[in-house]
Amino acid sequence: MFIAVIKPLVVNITILFSLIFNANLFFPFRRKMVLTWKQKMMYGVVASFTALLCMMYPIQPLAKTNFDFRMIVILVTTLYIGKMAGLLCTFTVVIARFIIGGPFAYAGATVSVFAYVVGILFRSSFFNVKRKMLYGLMIVFIYLILYIATIIYAVPPLSWRFYIIYFAFFIAMFLALIYVIERLIQFNEQFDDMIYVDKLATVSEMAASFAHEIRNPLTTVRGFVQFLSKDTTDENVKKFAPVILEELDRTNQIITEYLTLAKPTSFQRQKVNIDDVLHTSVHLLSPLGAMMNVSLQLYTEGKSDVYGNEHYLKQALLNVMKNGMEAIEYGGLVTIHKTVDEKEKQVIITIRDTGKGMTEEQLKNIGLPYYTTKSKGTGLGSMITARLIRQMDGTITYESQPNVGTTVTITLPLYEGD
Ligand code: ADP
Ligand code: MG
Repeated sequence: MFIAVIKPLVVNITILFSLIFNANLFFPFRRKMVLTWKQKMMYGVVASFTALLCMMYPIQPLAKTNFDFRMIVILVTTLYIGKMAGLLCTFTVVIARFIIGGPFAYAGATVSVFAYVVGILFRSSFFNVKRKMLYGLMIVFIYLILYIATIIYAVPPLSWRFYIIYFAFFIAMFLALIYVIERLIQFNEQFDDMIYVDKLATVSEMAASFAHEIRNPLTTVRGFVQFLSKDTTDENVKKFAPVILEELDRTNQIITEYLTLAKPTSFQRQKVNIDDVLHTSVHLLSPLGAMMNVSLQLYTEGKSDVYGNEHYLKQALLNVMKNGMEAIEYGGLVTIHKTVDEKEKQVIITIRDTGKGMTEEQLKNIGLPYYTTKSKGTGLGSMITARLIRQMDGTITYESQPNVGTTVTITLPLYEGD
């Protein structure tokens, strides 16, 4: 009997793993998957197909019962992809189970629906929990209680040895899939990062050489203007030379502050009082805010020393705050909160605006070079911000709702010396 069980067991296992890799090939797993309706359906179809395959190779020692791993497909699909895909898969399975028929069709359908229900119940908490394997173990135990209760109630007992093998593999298989998916998520995100960093490098290099090329002739022009205006009798030159110089200086400053920042230079990190930086930044932007009918509010709480670079921090925060202000059309509020997470040893800064918000599509693009929706935008601000924060071992995340507003969360490591 052992061989009779193991053979289909191995087939089921293979089918399950192939599902994961095929799914990952077409729609790579991400921590936060943004899927269109069509993609969810596609996932559902692939999952249904896999579940059907599992059902074709049941691990059944007795005729007419149908022990296989289709419930794992339902559980995993519902947990990772969502209600819709899970429902489609469950629906297919239930129908197929009735087509296969036999006296235990009802029990078979019931345990499949249970898998879906358990998936739905734990979906959001599973998403948020950090220790996925442990939590997965709990989920599968809860499910197995329902499963076993159904069998006891509806199906005549089979050999206990079969049950042990079947359920042990059931648990192991479920956990193995979670493990593989988590690894794939990690891998995919590293890959995304790599592409992103690569793009950044390209833009940064361009920007840096650009800045360099422009600054040289600019310096020459500045020198000549200064020279000409010194001992001239021409009234016009005398009058306008300072304006020219001022504008040249401003251009130079823009280049220095904006473009050279994109240059990946080595930078100094030290103890920086983030509260001071926040106050200065808000102070700097207040006049602009008054003009745009946007008020800025700053609340700070807890420790304030971070390990970073003051100049970079200011630049990053100004970029984010300015984006918040620019998102507001007819007056509104930009609220900045700074708190400390002692456990993670980091400072958390949230910058929330009551602006026009972003769609999922826009959220995906933010931080990509040259992505802008503004007529006078450069599409470099968020990219530079992301890079600066990253260089200081911080993180930046965007959450947004169209017509409600955007919240940008920045974390930075606390200063831990002295
Ligand atoms: P720019 O500000 O020059 O357009 P950014 O890189 O700073 O470039 O921003 C890119 C785009 O991201 C903006 O054009 C805007 O569409 C979007 N964006 C950034 N921050 C916000 C925000 N707080 N609210 C709404 N949209 C935003
Ligand atoms: Mg901007």
